[in-house]
Amino acid sequence: MTRHTTFCFTLKPTPSQAEALARHVGAARFAFNQCLAFVRDALASKSDEGPSPFVPWSGFDLINAFNRWKTTAAAGADESGAPGLPWRTQVCQQVFEEAAVDLGSALAAFSAGRKGERKGKRARFPRFKKKTRDRPSFRLRNKGHGAKSAIRLGVGDDPRMLRLPKLGDLAVRECTRRLRRMLAKGRAKILFATVALRSSGRWMVSMNVAAQELHSALRHASPLDSPVVGIDRGLTTFAVLAEASGREVERIDAPKPLRNSLPALRKASQSLSRKKGDSRNRARARAALAKMHARIGAIRRDFVHRESTRLAKTHGRLVLEDLCTKGLMKTTLARSLADSAWAMFASVLAYKMKWRGAELMVADRFFPSTRRCNTCGHVGEKLALSERTFRCGRCGHEADRDTNAAANLASYGATASVAAPGCRSHVAAKHAETRNACGEGSADGRLLVIRETSLVEAGRAYARHPRRVVVAGTVNTL
Ligand SMILES: [Zn+2]
Repeated sequence: MTRHTTFCFTLKPTPSQAEALARHVGAARFAFNQCLAFVRDALASKSDEGPSPFVPWSGFDLINAFNRWKTTAAAGADESGAPGLPWRTQVCQQVFEEAAVDLGSALAAFSAGRKGERKGKRARFPRFKKKTRDRPSFRLRNKGHGAKSAIRLGVGDDPRMLRLPKLGDLAVRECTRRLRRMLAKGRAKILFATVALRSSGRWMVSMNVAAQELHSALRHASPLDSPVVGIDRGLTTFAVLAEASGREVERIDAPKPLRNSLPALRKASQSLSRKKGDSRNRARARAALAKMHARIGAIRRDFVHRESTRLAKTHGRLVLEDLCTKGLMKTTLARSLADSAWAMFASVLAYKMKWRGAELMVADRFFPSTRRCNTCGHVGEKLALSERTFRCGRCGHEADRDTNAAANLASYGATASVAAPGCRSHVAAKHAETRNACGEGSADGRLLVIRETSLVEAGRAYARHPRRVVVAGTVNTL
């Protein structure tokens, strides 16, 4: 089994290389728009009478249509008068192909949405890409294997050098050792390289890599032996971890990059809004503001990756609460919620747990983790956000609000595991549900959703038929 992962590097192009990168970005946009024009023209020429015209719809058909077109007079002519797209040899041809593939998948999503075969928001019909609106990027596919592969990292003696087809050798800012070692040992293969000009003004390359599973020494041998730990999200602290017994494991503080730079952001935004129309000063102010936002994002991503890796390494079984992030983003908490990057944390943690053979469970969103008493199970009144201590109305148990919630999550995770010992992701099949743990995202982490009622029933079912393995219920996405 392979796992897919991404390695991101900052490029240090020379001025002429930066020009070439920009040319490739333009070529990708051009090819996408040209292919879209083929589709729209073909659709427009459809009529009730006569044979219906061929509409290129798949990436394959679009590549063929573009390749046929680019050498004809319809695409233009060079100085000598030879027909064809005059600048086509200046860019890597894969850029055209990948742009056509992108349009193909956009069209497929549109068709699937119309047929009701696609979950989530309906995909619109693709629109033309604009230089000012769409993210400047292009993608190159890696051809060939090992030493012969088209995309190569570490050229000659220089480990911080990346070779891309047609573009040549580009300097990379960061250390590339980890990926180079994986490639050298045949434990990974670069599939694609996507080059993008970020809003920070930096050229970044992200390498899509198919890697072997983590070494068994890095995986949890028997996650079922490790204690179940619940993770409760907080806005004051990023997360509180606790065991089912109520013992607090740790508290993680968030860096809050957005809140800390709000005054500076406000000033930069103000400065931007005071600049006139299309002026150079305005462009400068816009770049300054974008750079600030890019830095905030970088701090947040760094934090999320550090913490999720650490947790996946040290815990075999974790339970998260299922949050309706989309709904919460519409409330007054939106800013602090976005700042804590909880949704990103959940999806990153999901795939890292999977890589390490650990188990991540997600409690149902209607599970009253804050209101429930972890000692006696009594579900009390709703707590106001300002109330930091949980007090049980029945047994008088007192605990920190977040610790109690985390302990509740852990108890439920433990119940799920007891319901079907020895079997990994499990809950009664008829209660198994498909649910999105963080509202959005598309990582292919498989996880388990637990419903409060179903757990009780699953426990009962197990008591009645202790030998019957309760069927695994897994969730497609997180
Ligand atoms: Zn109680």
